[in-house]
Amino acid sequence: MINFQYARANDVVDAIRQITGDPNAKFIAGGTNLIDLMKMDVERPTKVVDITRLALKQVENTPSGGLRIGALVRNTDLAYHPLVGERYPVLASAIMAGASQQLRNMASTGGNLLQRTRCPYFYDTAMPCNKREPGSGCFAIEGHNRMHAILGGSDACIATHPSDMCVALAMLDAKVHVSSASNDRVIAFADFHRLPGDTPQRDTNLSAGEIITAVELPPKGFATNYTYLKIRDRLSYAFALVSVAVGLQLDGDTIKEGRFALGGVAHKPWRDSQAEAALRGQPANATTFFRAADVLLHDAKGYAHNTFKIDLARRCIARALTQAARGTPQLQSSKKIA
Ligand SMILES: Cc1cc2nc3c(=O)[nH]c(=O)nc-3n(C[C@H](O)[C@H](O)[C@H](O)COP(=O)(O)OP(=O)(O)OC[C@H]3O[C@@H](n4cnc5c(N)ncnc54)[C@H](O)[C@@H]3O)c2cc1C
Ligand code: SF4
Repeated sequence: MINFQYARANDVVDAIRQITGDPNAKFIAGGTNLIDLMKMDVERPTKVVDITRLALKQVENTPSGGLRIGALVRNTDLAYHPLVGERYPVLASAIMAGASQQLRNMASTGGNLLQRTRCPYFYDTAMPCNKREPGSGCFAIEGHNRMHAILGGSDACIATHPSDMCVALAMLDAKVHVSSASNDRVIAFADFHRLPGDTPQRDTNLSAGEIITAVELPPKGFATNYTYLKIRDRLSYAFALVSVAVGLQLDGDTIKEGRFALGGVAHKPWRDSQAEAALRGQPANATTFFRAADVLLHDAKGYAHNTFKIDLARRCIARALTQAARGTPQLQSSKKIA
C-alpha cells in the first residue's frame, strides 16, 4: 500500500500553487494513464492534484481564425465537436482511431499529450528500463522490440510515443499553451515532445510546476485533402505499429503544400521537413509519394523484431498520401452512437 495525498484544485492558479515546489506531486485529469501507472508501481506520486474541475473545457475560435482547445476537453467531445469535424477532420479521425469509446470519454486533451510509452518493460518493475529508472539499462534493445522505434532512438531508449491525437496535432502545427507560477508560455508542437537521447526519463519539455492550459490550432486544417491511417494488430483498441496523418493542398494534380507526420515509429510524432519539401510542386502520384517516404525513412533503423516497420511505414506513407490526394480519407471503425 502506497499512501498519497489527494487534493482538488479550484482554478489554474490554485492548481499551480498546489504543485509548485513538490517534485513528487502530479496533476490528474481523466486518470486513464496515471492511475494504471500508479497501480503498477511505475509512478509513485506523493500528492495527486485533481484538475478536472478547472474551467479548461472550451473549444473556441481564436482571433486569427484558428481553434483553441482547453486542456480538459475530453477526447470524445473534441472528436465530435462540429468545428473540428468541419475544419480539422484529420484530428477527429486520429482521436477516433485511439483507445476505446469508454477511454475517450474520460481522457483529456492535456493528458493525451502526456501519456507515457507503452513499452512493456517500462510497465514491468522487475525489468531494467532507463525511462523508469535512469541508468538501469534498456531491456528492449536486445529484447522484444516489435512495437519500438525505427527513427530517433538512442542507446538508452527506443520507446515510441503512443498517442494518435498527437500525430495529427504535429501535422497541423499545433501549439501548446502552458502556465506556471512565474509565467505563461507557448510551445510549438514540434518542440513539445523530446527524443530520448541520454535522458529518456524526460518525455517532454514541460518544466516542473507547469500545467497545460490549452492546445491551439492554426487556421489551416486541410479539411479537403487529409487522412489518418493507423496500422495496428487489431482493428480497434490497439496502439499503432505505424500511423500517418496527412494534409495536402492541391492545385489540380500538383501539390502546393504537403505535410505528413508519423506515429508509432519514434519517441515523438515524426515529421521531416526535407520529406515534405520533396512533395512541394510535384505531381500527386505514387512516384512522388514513395520518393517522399524514402527521404523520411533514410535514417530508419530496425531492431531484431521491428525491421518490418520500415517497409510498412514506406507503404503507409504512400497509401495515406494517395488517400488524401483522392479526397478519400481512411474511415475509422468507431462511429458516433446517436
Ligand atoms: C487500454 C488503453 C488503450 C489506449 N489506446 C490508445 C490509443 O490507441 N491511442 C491513443 O492515443 N491513446 C490511447 N490510450 C491512452 C489514452 O488516450 C490516454 O491514457 C489518455 O489520453 C490520457 O488522458 P487522461 O486525461 O486520462 O490523463 P491522466 O491519466 O489523467 O494524466 C496523464 C499524465 O498527464 C498529466 N496531466 C494531465 N493533464 C495535465 C495538464 N493539463 N497539465 C499538466 N499535466 C497534465 C498527469 O499528471 C499525468 O502525468 C489508451 C489507454 C488505455 C488505458
Ligand atoms: S525502450 Fe525505453 S521505455 Fe522501453 S525498456 Fe528501453 S528505456 Fe525503457
